[in-house]
Amino acid sequence: MAVQLYGELDTNRQFSLRRASELKQKIVPYLEKCLTIPTGFLNAALIQKRREHILNYFNATLQDWEDWHWQLKHRVQSANDLKALFPQLSAEQCAEVEHIGRSFRWAISPYYLSLMDITEPSDPIRLQGLPSLAELSDDFGEEDPMGEALTNPAPCITRRYPDRLIINVTNMCAMYCRHCQRRRNIGETDLHAKMTDLKTALDYIRANPEIRDVLVTGGDALLLNDHTLDWLLSELHSIPHVEIKRLGTRVPVTLPMRINDHLCSILAKYPPIYINTQFNHPQEITEDAKKAADKLIASGVVLGNQAVLLKGINHQPEIMKKLNQELLKIRIRPYYIFHAKNVKGTRHFVPSIKEGLEVMKHLRGYTSGLAVPTYIINAPNGGGKTPILPQYLVSLKENQALLKTWEDKLVQYETP
Ligand SMILES: *Cc1c(COP(=O)(O)O)cnc(C)c1O
Repeated sequence: MAVQLYGELDTNRQFSLRRASELKQKIVPYLEKCLTIPTGFLNAALIQKRREHILNYFNATLQDWEDWHWQLKHRVQSANDLKALFPQLSAEQCAEVEHIGRSFRWAISPYYLSLMDITEPSDPIRLQGLPSLAELSDDFGEEDPMGEALTNPAPCITRRYPDRLIINVTNMCAMYCRHCQRRRNIGETDLHAKMTDLKTALDYIRANPEIRDVLVTGGDALLLNDHTLDWLLSELHSIPHVEIKRLGTRVPVTLPMRINDHLCSILAKYPPIYINTQFNHPQEITEDAKKAADKLIASGVVLGNQAVLLKGINHQPEIMKKLNQELLKIRIRPYYIFHAKNVKGTRHFVPSIKEGLEVMKHLRGYTSGLAVPTYIINAPNGGGKTPILPQYLVSLKENQALLKTWEDKLVQYETP
């Protein structure tokens, strides 16, 4: 009996070893590609050099750099600043930026600028921050493809779902993403919502007890000042049917110094708070971003990421996989990957759905389930978030399913 068991174990072990070596082979191409994808951590020395250069230009100190108000006040948003900061850029390039800026506003925080290789047109940070001529030749996109104007039952509110809604509190951001879905709201100037409008929005929430989840966004929710934020969160906190509060913000990526002790002491008062941010490329994951995440987590905030799938930035499966893995290392859980919307001026960023599915196909099974967010297409005109999955269920009849595994193996599955 014992001898037989050993024999069985032997063949099982041999079988397992063969399978393990097959699995090991599967990851080799990714590991090779991975070496060529830099992260913010790997770029630390470069980033520091750029920071010194920018500080020199503004005649400022490291202490200034760590002050989010200083960062906002010194956002680079004119061709003159750009030219003076980066003499490597040609006069033509700067004129181009100025020209595009007349149609679509731009501004970049010094911090985000320090992550950027300004002379490299394919740099994923530059693509997100610096205007490009392609923005002016978009004959496909619309101003408001989500029809937010038509799902606005009260000032500042977008309601598209039964139990939750958005409050838009500002149009201001630390950096105006070139792929912004709400660029129609950016306008010429920074505007926070009027106090009277916020009060009316809160009245709407109070009057509708089925609203259990309120998402504060913008713009960037964390560009509200501490005082207003404290007030708004305490108001929401005092509404018994509001079970959770969420903040939509890109500051962990574009202005991590905003996550300071004072802000964290406010956030800590109103649990549960969920923050979804938007990292789109591993190069955005820096020591500063990690510090911001650590502080938020220490204040009891739960962190998630909503990446936007962007052509030329992260539409390659290896980059998206690396991004999600790097996010987990700083305790940010990948939540959604959004298919870029058809917003006027962003056509050059919009990938095909096929490319999106390819990205998803390379995640499930190949890496931790924690690193696999849901891929979402926003249905036009406020139809809502619609999940898109590669075909894992090939057919389903009564109690017979035909499944396709992550390795494309077809298997029959039967239920009683
Ligand atoms: C995205 C969104 C939400 C939140 O959706 P979840 O899938 O719950 O994250 C809520 N309201 C509006 C209007 C939205 O666009």
